[in-house]
Amino acid sequence: MSANMYDAIVIGGGPAGSSAANFLVRKGHKVLLLERENFPRFHVGESLLPAAWDLWDDLGVTKEIEDAGFVVKQGVNFAFGPDKDITLLTREFPEYFQRPYTYHVERAKFDEILLRKAESLGAEVREGWLVKDVIMDGERAVGVVAGPKGGETEEYHASVIVDATGRDCVVGRKLGLHRDDTVLNKISYWTHIRGGYREIMDDSCRTDIHTINDGWIWYIPLADDVISVGPVLDTKKIKSWPEKTPQERFDRAVSECAAISKWMEGSTQIQDIQVVSNVSYLNKQFVGDGYILVGDASMFIDPVFSAGVTLAMRSAKFAAESIDRGLAAGGCNAETIDDYEAKFRKPVGRVFKLIHNWYDILERGDRDNIFIRSQRIPLLRERLIVMLSGGYDRADMDELLADAAAMAE
Ligand SMILES: Cc1cc2nc3c(=O)[nH]c(=O)nc-3n(C[C@H](O)[C@H](O)[C@H](O)COP(=O)(O)OP(=O)(O)OC[C@H]3O[C@@H](n4cnc5c(N)ncnc54)[C@H](O)[C@@H]3O)c2cc1C
Repeated sequence: MSANMYDAIVIGGGPAGSSAANFLVRKGHKVLLLERENFPRFHVGESLLPAAWDLWDDLGVTKEIEDAGFVVKQGVNFAFGPDKDITLLTREFPEYFQRPYTYHVERAKFDEILLRKAESLGAEVREGWLVKDVIMDGERAVGVVAGPKGGETEEYHASVIVDATGRDCVVGRKLGLHRDDTVLNKISYWTHIRGGYREIMDDSCRTDIHTINDGWIWYIPLADDVISVGPVLDTKKIKSWPEKTPQERFDRAVSECAAISKWMEGSTQIQDIQVVSNVSYLNKQFVGDGYILVGDASMFIDPVFSAGVTLAMRSAKFAAESIDRGLAAGGCNAETIDDYEAKFRKPVGRVFKLIHNWYDILERGDRDNIFIRSQRIPLLRERLIVMLSGGYDRADMDELLADAAAMAE
């Protein structure tokens, strides 16, 4: 194999890319990972799910994650207005998960743990390297044009290109596969504060999700007295707001939530307001000849149920299994790796359904819904907690979604 020829080139070193590189080198493949930034680098997306433990074991990072000083997350509290809190804790059904808790993480630290592990296992990692283009031979992806940021570029070739570029979706956009979810037309404004109130549960915390008129707000306590706060709003509805700047819109959204306004009293905002528009999308296909899309490069799920990072690592695992089989069969063609797409679309489809149901609930207001009903129907509560903890692959999740859909009628 020539110096610039690899089994797989992974573009992007977030949770999806690092995990894909990790799983592929473990299977004996020659992997080049190209990441635009130098790690540690800031990233939003801090609330994880208990389903991640099994993946961390597979990746060999469990100890590093346990030792990183992240805040323990017990579950999630949904507040549908003052005194309308529904708290769902994984420990109510501990039998479904290796451990009934997870973490709120600083992504800079978390993502670096994953990247360094892939590197230590033998992936060739180049940070501060930008992929400028994907080289196609007809319909087949055969390589990338890349180089250090601001420097000369060169061509690098591989049997398969793994697009792990997150919301940049480098391969998906080049090949016209990108599709915004026009129903879930949301925009997010978020920041970090220092010094806000924390709901402490046995030395640990929970993610809080509070609904407001035109959306909802997350409140995620992190280490070092930092809290991540972010409204997610309906793009069309906020057009009529007189508040136009990100800071004004953030302030207005927070002012509409009595609980979070109170919790933030006396705190200091330590970051400018960050903005993400067109929050959700689902690409037309996840695989093709010589390429495979993982994590956010394949789809982006609204963050209300904190699914993104766990799904990104899971997609990387599925993708590495398919690539390994494809390479063994003589090449990564659409047909040899398309089992990945079928496998990954299943959990993704379930989370999308639950998210659409969530926004139906917000539209309909106070009527009955699965969250309210989970307070009086034990089986529904069990399924909801399993789903919200990341147990998307369980067969009875379809029954939960059917119940949710029936209530929306
Ligand atoms: C507002 C918001 C809130 C969120 N909240 C949560 C949450 O609470 N919990 C949760 O689990 N998820 C959350 N997410 C989602 C989560 O952040 C993502 O699902 C997760 O980061 C996906 O990982 P990834 O590896 O696919 O992409 P990323 O983490 O985005 O990594 C992609 C990497 O690719 C690199 N890259 C991009 N283009 C190139 C290029 N051309 N060349 C080289 N490198 C490139 C980037 O620098 C980046 O490091 C949230 C997302 C948003 C937007």
